[in-house]
Amino acid sequence: GMPASPAPVLAERRKTRQLQVGAVGVGSEHPVSVQSMTTTVTADINSTLQQIAELTAAGCDIVRVACPSADDAEALPAIAQKSKIPVIADIHFQPKYVFAAIEAGCAAVRVNPGNIKKFDDKVKEIAQAAKDHGTPIRIGVNAGSLDPRLMQKYGKATPEALAESALWEASLFAEHDFHDLKISVKHNDPVVMVRAYEILAEQCDYPLHLGVTEAGPAFQGTIKSAVAFGALLRQGIGDTIRVSLSAPPVEEIKVGTQILQSLNLRPRKLEIVSCPSCGRAQVDVYKLAEEVTAGLEGMEVPLRVAVMGCVVNGPGEAREADLGVASGNGKGQIFVKGEVIKTVPEHQIVETLIEEAMRIAEDMEPA
Ligand code: SF4
Repeated sequence: GMPASPAPVLAERRKTRQLQVGAVGVGSEHPVSVQSMTTTVTADINSTLQQIAELTAAGCDIVRVACPSADDAEALPAIAQKSKIPVIADIHFQPKYVFAAIEAGCAAVRVNPGNIKKFDDKVKEIAQAAKDHGTPIRIGVNAGSLDPRLMQKYGKATPEALAESALWEASLFAEHDFHDLKISVKHNDPVVMVRAYEILAEQCDYPLHLGVTEAGPAFQGTIKSAVAFGALLRQGIGDTIRVSLSAPPVEEIKVGTQILQSLNLRPRKLEIVSCPSCGRAQVDVYKLAEEVTAGLEGMEVPLRVAVMGCVVNGPGEAREADLGVASGNGKGQIFVKGEVIKTVPEHQIVETLIEEAMRIAEDMEPA
């Protein structure tokens, strides 16, 4: 027979400098981490901490908070101290808030070089303060706020313009011997964004934070981010990710986590392998898959559950999974590790699968 081919894997991670964002290591020696950003007014400490707790529970590794006003800056020490995950302060125009965030004990600060003019003479002081506190800085270039100088040079936010902007900003910090930098170059077009990161990956060894900016509502944003991150992570490019959605931030974490799981960059947890259904289906597959998914939500073990509409591919897939059902003739054959353990009437399929899943899960280690 054919020799067994090795399991397919992604390209090796691009070698980067290593950073410490609070307790989370960032760079090629560390797992890719998932980030999000709070939507609360940062100065509202309780609401912000409440949302951070929800994000933490959803699996968020690092959280970013906006800091547009003095009230927000004043809230940073309490938030940085009470959050269970590292907090990055997001600062656009005001160097004084950069210093405040560093003093506040934020795990990192994000600055936008589009606004560098106001920063220019401050870079040295910022680099010194960041160095003193061991605070990394993320240089976050956004297509929407590209440095006017580069806008003029390139005519629009091309991949080259985005990369040049970020590298130029990084060089300003490097001049002061500061290299604890992470870079992002976000664009709403995944094709432009992917190219911008490829250029950056070739030209520097800073860790990269991936994001498709203004990606849109959940459906579109999920697809844009998954396509773009997949294209980059496939090449080993990307050290932290943020899925931007016009949706509650917990949704961003779910999508980001799922992207990493799909690429085997995170252990998979519950996975429902359900067929798309077709003219052969002898059961309402959509409803069955939805009910099983709902019944098993929040399961922390790497369980694969197959829900198949008929007996053509059904038994095959159901056998590959830990647990599965192949339906036909108003009945469901329930498989556990490839063996039919029982056949139940259609109306008992869901409860039987959930029961069996719970039983199997008890003997499994969490992913
Ligand atoms: Fe169609 Fe059966 Fe395949 Fe489902 S498992 S898509 S019902 S052939």
